[in-house]
Amino acid sequence: MQRDLARILFPRERIQERVREMAAEISTVYGEDSQGLIIVPVLSGSIIFLADLIRCLPFMMKIGLMTISRYRGATTTGGEARLIQDLNVDIRQRHVLVVDDILDTGNTLRIVQDQLRGRQPASLRTCVLLRKPAKAPKDFPVEFVGFDIEDAFVVGYGLDYNDLYRNWPDIGVLRPELYA
Ligand code: 5GP
Ligand code: MG
Repeated sequence: MQRDLARILFPRERIQERVREMAAEISTVYGEDSQGLIIVPVLSGSIIFLADLIRCLPFMMKIGLMTISRYRGATTTGGEARLIQDLNVDIRQRHVLVVDDILDTGNTLRIVQDQLRGRQPASLRTCVLLRKPAKAPKDFPVEFVGFDIEDAFVVGYGLDYNDLYRNWPDIGVLRPELYA
């Protein structure tokens, strides 16, 4: 896998360090409201991040699952995001935190946020490990961001290309010739 990467952006140790910091930020922001927090990961890219993040949270929480997909094997933008599987828990009057791997154009997260907001949660916040400021609208509502990155296609730590590379522990830039 490593030879398919042009370069490493974040080695595993740096990711772990930042994930711990983000968990601390989340605990501080929620305070007492952390009781009964429902975390909604946007599948599948967020699963590795989710697993590490929630194990750093020092309070009780639940996971609500929904599946949305945009990139159908491609690395280019423009594909419509689709809700593939609806949420399996009731979030009415509950504090909800959406967790995603990366904020790119924001199309995917906007759909997720709209879906969830319509169910009247007590609050709705969003947490992403990566953000591409070049693409994401400046005012896109996301409360917790791990790293801002350049506009390159990245894989590893849950992020895939054609469903591959999710298990690579570092985050790196995929060699462009592999998907050109
Ligand atoms: P958006 O709707 O914000 O443009 O795209 C969000 C989704 O597209 C992410 O949740 C992720 O699944 C996928 N995505 C966007 N940029 C990248 C990238 O650089 N690498 C990978 N593997 N997926 C990406
Ligand atoms: Mg995703």
